[in-house]
Amino acid sequence: MAKADAEKTVVDTENLDSSFLRKVLKHPGGEQILVCFQCGVCSSSCPLRLINPEYNPRKIVKKTILGMKDQVISSDFIWFCADCNACTERCPQGVNPSEVMRAIKNVAVEEGIVPAAVKKIVENLEEHGRVYPLEEFTQEEREMLDLPKLEPDVKIFKIDRKKLLGENS
Ligand code: SF4
Ligand code: SF4
Repeated sequence: MAKADAEKTVVDTENLDSSFLRKVLKHPGGEQILVCFQCGVCSSSCPLRLINPEYNPRKIVKKTILGMKDQVISSDFIWFCADCNACTERCPQGVNPSEVMRAIKNVAVEEGIVPAAVKKIVENLEEHGRVYPLEEFTQEEREMLDLPKLEPDVKIFKIDRKKLLGENS
């Protein structure tokens, strides 16, 4: 997966893919993307920009509308979103940028582009029923707090790898 790109955006008109926008529009959460008027309120509200100023939801929305599929789905940025909804609360157009981000991630998964960290979480869920394996340290902390020990593995649901990790994963 490409590193988060900090360089200026260059629109390569030869490589625009209008089917990318159509796919995002069809995914739940992506329906309102076209009413974005690029005010930048989402970006100025986003707490992640305090950590990485290169993360820019406004830009991701614009690139998606233009059909810059490769730049958008091969970038780590789409996986940065913490789903805090600050952007969605404030967007004057009701674009729901956090939902748009989820729709884009779903398109990326359909294309088989899933970061290693997300794959690991799915594997942990498969193996342990948890997003990360239970450590002895956690059990000790619980004991100190007079809380009962937890079962190390809980398998309460079936993982659909194809759905969660895409066709090629
Ligand atoms: S706040 Fe809404 S309208 Fe403004 S740039 Fe972000 S998504 Fe677009
Ligand atoms: S939902 Fe994602 S994009 Fe929106 S403000 Fe929060 S972290 Fe930023």
